[in-house]
Amino acid sequence: MKRAPRANPYRDRWAGDLRADAVGATVTVAGWVHRRRDHGGLIFLDLRDRSGLLQLVIHPQPGDETFAAAEALRPEHVVSVTGEVVAREAGNVNSDLSTGEIEIAVRELRTLAEAQTPPFPVDEDRPLDEMTRLRHRAIDLRRETMRTALELRHEVVATIRGHLGEHDFLEIETPILTRSTPEGARDFLVPNRREPGTWYALPQSPQLFKQLLMIGGYERYFQIARCFRDEDMRADRQAEFTQLDVELAFVEEDDVLELVEGLMARVFEVGGFDVPPPPWDRVTYAQALARYGSDRPDRRFGLELRDVSDALRGSQFKVFQSVLDSGGAVVVLNAGRVELSRSELDGLNEVVQRHGGKAVAWAFVESGPPTPSWRSPIAKFFTPQQIAAAGGEPGDLLLFAADDRQVALEALGGLRVELAQRLGLERSGHDVLWVVDFPMFGWNAGEERWDPLHHPFTAPTGSLDDPGSLGSRNYDLVADGVELGGGSIRIHEAEVQQKVLDLIGIDADDAQRRFGFLLDALRHGAPPHGGIALGIDRIVAMLAGRDSIRDVIAFPKTASGADPLTGAPAAVDERQVRELGLRPL
Ligand code: ASP
Repeated sequence: MKRAPRANPYRDRWAGDLRADAVGATVTVAGWVHRRRDHGGLIFLDLRDRSGLLQLVIHPQPGDETFAAAEALRPEHVVSVTGEVVAREAGNVNSDLSTGEIEIAVRELRTLAEAQTPPFPVDEDRPLDEMTRLRHRAIDLRRETMRTALELRHEVVATIRGHLGEHDFLEIETPILTRSTPEGARDFLVPNRREPGTWYALPQSPQLFKQLLMIGGYERYFQIARCFRDEDMRADRQAEFTQLDVELAFVEEDDVLELVEGLMARVFEVGGFDVPPPPWDRVTYAQALARYGSDRPDRRFGLELRDVSDALRGSQFKVFQSVLDSGGAVVVLNAGRVELSRSELDGLNEVVQRHGGKAVAWAFVESGPPTPSWRSPIAKFFTPQQIAAAGGEPGDLLLFAADDRQVALEALGGLRVELAQRLGLERSGHDVLWVVDFPMFGWNAGEERWDPLHHPFTAPTGSLDDPGSLGSRNYDLVADGVELGGGSIRIHEAEVQQKVLDLIGIDADDAQRRFGFLLDALRHGAPPHGGIALGIDRIVAMLAGRDSIRDVIAFPKTASGADPLTGAPAAVDERQVRELGLRPL
């Protein structure tokens, strides 16, 4: 229920909030014609405003202007009507509608605006071509699915603001026109007219500013922050997205995790998303990778992975043996009792390739006295002991990947999720967990350097002299196999920061040039601090049960970064380009 609107010539009530207790009252309501039905000389209109739907009835009276006006109404015309609230006859009560016990007997009707035939019906909830929806977004936004998603989004953000306000956080804005903030993606750049050749970057996140706020003594900061990353779009990403950005001073991991658990438990509740009460499990990165082949595991179904390198070492199968000889691993995914055809089995190669692997080898476990045997093209290369050690019950399908250990695990991790979908494995309830104890760096063989797994402002654990073995004080929040956000305890000592930047190939001069402002601030008394960022779009999409984050963003872009509504990105006047010191194409 909404607060009653201020009475004006258009309306004095919300249409969707009228109930039987208003019977007898004369009301004025306004909105759009959702639907029109002509019935035995009567005209029925469903009027829609933001609060919902309300049935209007117009009785024919000879020479009556109201009836004539009603006859001319089409879907999406905009009207204001005055009339009496009447109770519907028992047989006409519509229990699907919150206003279903009443209707308005219209006395006066004003058409405020006419509408062309809409590009798609607003009163139906059938799947529509997304380009058409985005091109006509104002119409699409009228559909109930969009309205409920954006209402939920508002509630989520309001809950966040309320909760963090109660916990002494200050909401502080940080710049949009700024300097590169490395989160591992490409920057969006904005040319500077005043000094051609110099550029602003749009923030990939407010990371450095929030650290400066901690050094500035604000202690507890948050922001509903817009972030920009110029990445090649993968399925459900937006170049421009919204994060809840949080930072706290004088904290350790437990402080951040507990704060987020309290906050997210409320957010889940608002979304009617029934998760177990916190504290949520903390799974190490190593465990998550070893069992699920992913740093965002969905634990609602089995299909766990197992490293069978030791069990299968020394076989006659050259493909496995050469991988093992060169320090790699053989990992198995037990798909359970499934029958896949030969071509379906071959098709699995394409799946693991999409997840970084090369191929899968398969074997069906068969019972065979005294030990299990395999039905598989590679069965002949293995001893009965090896086959027994690879595990599985008779009837199970085993899928193997042999590769660098991490590559094999991640490839089967990707296959695991796709198989679960394909096999329709039940995933009941919701699973929320933290992934912790990440390595600090991964080796970037192409560029021959260490890349941070999170970002280079994350505090490492261990000895900086051995980068490959460094852990990091990074944590990710994962729900149902989706990463909802991540953060870390930060480096608060300039020398350590300098050293870490050095390890990722940013030498002292370069560091001073790019991050001097941070390093200087760190030299002026930085408290230990840490924080997190949570993806608002993703959280709302999950709570709303939408497959795409575009369905919970009012004005999203397509996967290729285009905005079919405004036509952005678009060419501009040559004069504008020259003014920026650039050459028109
Ligand atoms: N800045 C990080 C990100 O955008 C989050 C954090 O470390 O707080 O992913």
